[in-house]
Amino acid sequence: PLTTGIVGLPNVGKSTLFNAITRAGAESANYPFCTIDPNVGVVDVPDERLGRLAEMFNPRQILPTSFQFVDIAGLVQGASRGEGLGNQFLAHIREVDAIIHVVRCFEGNEITHVSGSVDPVSDMETINLELILADLETVERRMDRVARQKKSGDKQAMQEYDVLQRLQEALADEKPARHLDLEEEEMERIRSLNLLTLKKVLYAANVSEEDAANPDQNPRVRKVMEQAAAEGAGVVTISAQLEAEIVELDGEEREAFLNEMGLESSGLDRLVAAAYRLLGLITYFTAGEKEVRAWTVREGAKAPQAAGVIHSDFERGFIRAEVVSYEDLMEAGSMAQARERGLLRSEGKDYVVQDGDVIHFRFNV
Ligand code: GDP
Repeated sequence: PLTTGIVGLPNVGKSTLFNAITRAGAESANYPFCTIDPNVGVVDVPDERLGRLAEMFNPRQILPTSFQFVDIAGLVQGASRGEGLGNQFLAHIREVDAIIHVVRCFEGNEITHVSGSVDPVSDMETINLELILADLETVERRMDRVARQKKSGDKQAMQEYDVLQRLQEALADEKPARHLDLEEEEMERIRSLNLLTLKKVLYAANVSEEDAANPDQNPRVRKVMEQAAAEGAGVVTISAQLEAEIVELDGEEREAFLNEMGLESSGLDRLVAAAYRLLGLITYFTAGEKEVRAWTVREGAKAPQAAGVIHSDFERGFIRAEVVSYEDLMEAGSMAQARERGLLRSEGKDYVVQDGDVIHFRFNV
């Protein structure tokens, strides 16, 4: 499954946030692995369309799609030189699809900050620099190897070396790899390096409970936003402490509590939604009497790939997909009506799945 890793300096609220995530946890029976690995948290992706579809189909089961977070503790200044958990920690980040970087914007004298003061922008720079240095090492090590292949006139090696050289320059200049805007073909050459600074980043500005409703009033948050904008990264403001309290409440209590705090939705929901967008993910649905269910695919996925998310047999034996958009289905009022009005399309293997598609797959077994 697609995964975002949570990183940040010590004492910024990572564990508090991660605990809120695991306690908000998706139905754990569906995700046995997350009870095994304490560093993995799985949450449901909130989607109001699921409830509306359930009203239409009256299914026995309603299953939201889920999203996975990994707690990557242990990043400290000097990690790229092997301090703290160092390289072991960096290896964990290589495996994630995107990074959520928690920065501290809340005060609290009794809570010590590693560098002695609360300065989120400096925290951002500290971590980013570690990631850049780690990538620089990766790139230089690779350059040594490719240089030898290049000498023997290997054309691919020459192309790769070219890209590596540009990467080296950027990284040595303390710029993340993503700043280079590499072409698809160039990306292909270096994909296996899994560079950390090519991953998309979402900053989670952790604010105090008091600031949760109006985070923009906190000057530190504004600085984080400016810095993130300059990097082309997103920001979600969240109060980890408050989230930890919110997850303890159920349905109505939660609504009341959010209202009281002047919040529209929980920060966790916003975090999940933002991470989902960051990764370029979309949701399609399957709907019937048995279950109404949401599934996640990458934007641009074709129908057979989407079927493969349900079961690999579905992808292999794909024949066609019967598709109706969520809006069309709602407007028609029922599947039978949608069919009658010609809103149900029969799509082949080249169909690109759209967010909100309600799909029935036909396949050979
Ligand atoms: P980590 O080292 O990044 O995992 O940080 P922790 O989650 O352990 O948090 C460090 C300290 O900050 C703990 O004492 C938390 O209770 C506190 N803390 C975390 N988030 C918040 C928050 O949103 N508001 C306040 N006031 N304190 C927080």
